[in-house]
Amino acid sequence: MINTSEAKGYRPKEYQNFDDLRFVCDDDDPNAVVINIRPSLSDDELERAIITALKVKLAGECWWLSDKIKNELGLPKEQTTITARIGEADTIEVDVYNFGESLSDQHKAQIVNIIMTAARINNGEIIKKVKYIFIGKTDKQNELTGELTSGEATLRNNYQAIQIYPHGLRQDKHRTGLPSSFEATVAHEIGHVFGDKLLADWENEFGWKKVEQAVIAPGGRAIQKTTSQPCVSDYAAFDPAEDLSDSVAVYLLDPEVLKRIHPGKFKFLEAHLPILSEVVHVKSENKSGVDIKLPSIDNTVKYKVTRKKIM
Ligand SMILES: [Zn+2]
Repeated sequence: MINTSEAKGYRPKEYQNFDDLRFVCDDDDPNAVVINIRPSLSDDELERAIITALKVKLAGECWWLSDKIKNELGLPKEQTTITARIGEADTIEVDVYNFGESLSDQHKAQIVNIIMTAARINNGEIIKKVKYIFIGKTDKQNELTGELTSGEATLRNNYQAIQIYPHGLRQDKHRTGLPSSFEATVAHEIGHVFGDKLLADWENEFGWKKVEQAVIAPGGRAIQKTTSQPCVSDYAAFDPAEDLSDSVAVYLLDPEVLKRIHPGKFKFLEAHLPILSEVVHVKSENKSGVDIKLPSIDNTVKYKVTRKKIM
């Protein structure tokens, strides 16, 4: 008997797998994946060590090759590819993969709005670090507040991805006072990809100092730094990275408010993250079910081996 719901309905596709890949050693290819193997290995052990090293390396750079991430996310139900043109000729593409419930038109419009705004900073330098936005299906606890968390950036950094959890889809007022928690959360997570240099300057500028003894936050994380200067939210006061990200959210979505309430922070962000470029939203393409295009790399992976001692 044919199961019609399965035949007609959503048929999930498969992610690319390690078994699909062929590994070819090529010392002359400048784009070859470089892996480092201990010089003490025998030739017998070498082959196995190379495959293991390639798996670790690729799973760390391509989220769809990481079993951990694949198990956590599942297969996407929806994909929106947002294309924008920055300046005259530069084009960027951001893929929103939704692993949870369907996103509303409002959610989709808000994502486009933030991507377009962030793309105007430093000729798109920041938005080029965000290739994927994941909308997760399972909530997670925030390690600072101990409550449900809205989003994540740091853990997904290597994959050029940010993630929004179901709890982050709310449209109620954000802790910073911005009108939509969802919109502010996406902007906040983009604020986490600005890099260590900016964060170090931010800490210096706004009085963040190391505490003598770490304090344990309600969510369990040890708090290492504190400031006596006012922040845009209570959450921002937990940690300099959260202070920067929440301030970035207000800077991107309601700069006049930041300018009025925290003029020093506005000036800092205006100087470091100038909103300069002309950006045009070229298109948003929606796909679902079997039409979803999962990312992949070329099935032939070229690599070269270095045999340096790991200190
Ligand atoms: Zn954060």
